[in-house]
Amino acid sequence: MKPQIAVVGSVNVDLVFKTPRMPVPGETLMGHSFQQIHGGKGANQAVAAARMGAAVALIACVGDDVNGQSCLQALGQDHIDLQNVRRTKDCATGVAGILLDDGGENCIVLATGANALLDPSDIGRAASTIAQAKLLLCQLETPLDTVIAAIRSARQAGVKVVLNPAPARPLSDEVFACVDYLVVNETEAALLSGLTTVDLSNANEAAARLQQRGAKVVLITLGALGMWVRSTDDSYCLPARKVEVVDTTAAGDTFVGSLAVAIAEGMELRAACMFAQSAAALAVTKFGAQTSIPYRDEVERFFT
Ligand code: ATP
Repeated sequence: MKPQIAVVGSVNVDLVFKTPRMPVPGETLMGHSFQQIHGGKGANQAVAAARMGAAVALIACVGDDVNGQSCLQALGQDHIDLQNVRRTKDCATGVAGILLDDGGENCIVLATGANALLDPSDIGRAASTIAQAKLLLCQLETPLDTVIAAIRSARQAGVKVVLNPAPARPLSDEVFACVDYLVVNETEAALLSGLTTVDLSNANEAAARLQQRGAKVVLITLGALGMWVRSTDDSYCLPARKVEVVDTTAAGDTFVGSLAVAIAEGMELRAACMFAQSAAALAVTKFGAQTSIPYRDEVERFFT
């Protein structure tokens, strides 16, 4: 039986400019190339979960435009349930402008568009989908009150919650208290823990602070260094898999979507994190967002 996962989140089109290096303010830089790719944290994590073998339902909002149509078509190809994706005439589909340099680093500017119109009434309409899921997965590229409504809806139905609070923004302790698995990168960990910066040397302290705020399990991803895991009774570092870096876009999304499936399948926490890190490392070896997310069989071959 496939585990059912409900994802509340964003759907974007990524406009990707490959450049030799990042421009400085005021500079016009000749790029290498341009490509248009399907992205958005919600959609990416939904695709990662679907490719890892889950039955995924996405709750989202896109514009009634060519970009929205194209995003939905791509999500449909990954067999994602789109019954709870609303199409609005009031706003364009979200767009992300991405600069990707020769070193594999990225800089992103997001025009959130229709994602900003996903509201708590959309969550109300999707309540039975959330209640039937094994796990709810959320990020913060959609309005906070909508994410909070989704988390509350999951809690009421006894559904586990995975929150990836990205992009980072302040959250109340009430939200933390409803989160079973909090997945943050260094930037998000710093903002939410109150530490100036977070790296391998103080990841345990950051995770402890986030746990004190109410999150049950805290996972801090540290890029090529791997991750810090802090559960209720254990705290340890897991190194990343060594791979040739092509493009780090969607490494985090691949990690989160894959982790959600592993947890929903009942995998032990350490194994689930290693599985998700293997999936994320494979994503780093390919270009793009949804184009780089691997399939379960590739991850299992790499994992064993
Ligand atoms: P992004 O926003 O670029 O998608 P993120 O900042 O949310 O990523 P990261 O901490 O960069 O998340 O990466 C998530 C996970 O992906 C890491 O914990 C690691 O397992 C894997 N990963 C990222 N970069 C690399 C790399 N260069 N080599 C191997 N694994 C990597």
